[in-house]
Amino acid sequence: MEEKMMAAVLHAPGDLRCEEVEVPKIGPNDVLLKVKAAGNCGSDLQRIMVEGTHVFPCIPGHEFSGEIAKIGEKATSFKVGDRVTAYPLIPCMRCEWCLQGQYNLCEDYDYLGSRSHGAFAEYVKIPVVNLVRLPKEVDFDEGAMTDPACVALHGIKRAGGIRPGQSVVILGTGPIGMLACQWAVAMGAGKVVAVDIIEDKLKIARELGVDVCINAEKEDVVEKVMEETKGKGADVVMETAGSTATQRQSLLIARKRAKVILIGRSYSDVLLPDEVFTRIFRRELEVYGAVNSNFSPLDNEWKISVQFMAARAIKAKPLISHRVKLEDIAETFKKMYEGKMIYNKIIFSP
Ligand SMILES: [Zn+2]
Ligand SMILES: [Zn+2]
Repeated sequence: MEEKMMAAVLHAPGDLRCEEVEVPKIGPNDVLLKVKAAGNCGSDLQRIMVEGTHVFPCIPGHEFSGEIAKIGEKATSFKVGDRVTAYPLIPCMRCEWCLQGQYNLCEDYDYLGSRSHGAFAEYVKIPVVNLVRLPKEVDFDEGAMTDPACVALHGIKRAGGIRPGQSVVILGTGPIGMLACQWAVAMGAGKVVAVDIIEDKLKIARELGVDVCINAEKEDVVEKVMEETKGKGADVVMETAGSTATQRQSLLIARKRAKVILIGRSYSDVLLPDEVFTRIFRRELEVYGAVNSNFSPLDNEWKISVQFMAARAIKAKPLISHRVKLEDIAETFKKMYEGKMIYNKIIFSP
C-alpha cells in the first residue's frame, strides 16, 4: 500500500490546506478505512474557520463512510472490503458515564476530526469497536449521514420519543432538522410542522412527509403553530437552528407539559424575555438538552439509524446539496463562511 495520501489538514483556524501526509499507522484493534464519502457537520464550519481543532495540525471530518482497507491483528470482527460508517467519539471507558454506556457524555473522550485525525482524507484510522456495518441498501453517501440521523434520533429519545398522534414542530431544516422531521413521521406523529426561512429547504421537507411548512420570513411562526394545533401549541418542539428567534419560538409554541428539545448550538448569549422564560414554569415545560448520539451495546442508535435508512423510512439523499472533490474543500469552507453559498449537506470525496 502507498505510504502517502491526500488530506485536508487544519493548521490554524481558517488555515485548511489540502496536502500530502502519511497514511495513518494502525494498532492491533484498529482498522484503516478508505474514505468514500465525508459530510460537513454544522459544527465543522465553526471548527475550521473560527475555533480550530483541539490540536494542530488536525484533519477534520467526523461524518463519513468507506471501505475497510486494512485490519489490525485483533480487529477480526471485520474484514478488508467491508462497507462501514463509524461513531466518531472514542470513549475513555473508565468514567461514570462510559460505565453506564452513555458514551456521548464521556468525561475524557477522543474525537475523530477534532482531537484525532478525521475523514477529510483518503484514509482514516478507526478503533474497530466504533464501526457500524452498512446494509447493502445504504450507499456511501447515505452512510456518511448516519451521524446526523443519530443526533436527531438521540434528541427525540432524550425526550422519551414521539407518541403516535402527537404534534411535532421542528425549527430549522438543516440536515439534523430534516432528519428529525423524518423520525417524527416514522414514529407516527399526527402532525409534523417544519420551520425555516429558506423556501428550497422547506420544499424538500414537504417531499419528505412534513405536513405543514412555515416560512418564518413570510409568516408569524407562533400564530401559525397555534392555528395548526387548535390554539394549544405543539406536544413536542425541536430546536435545531440555534438562532435567538427559534430559541424563543421553541418555548412560545409549546403546549402545557410539552417537551422542548434543544439540539442547535447557539454561538452567542441567549437572552430570553420574561414573557418567554415564564412559559417554562407556567406551562410546566420539559426542556431537554441533547448532544451527539448513543453508541453502546445496550442502546445503539447507529444500528437503528442504518436499519431505518435501509428500509427507506429515513431518506438521507435529498439532504445533499453539493458534491465536492476533496481538493476543493478549503475554498468551499471559505465560501460557506463568507455566506456566498446556500447549502445543506455537502459530501466531500477523495
Ligand atoms: Zn457532526
Ligand atoms: Zn468516559
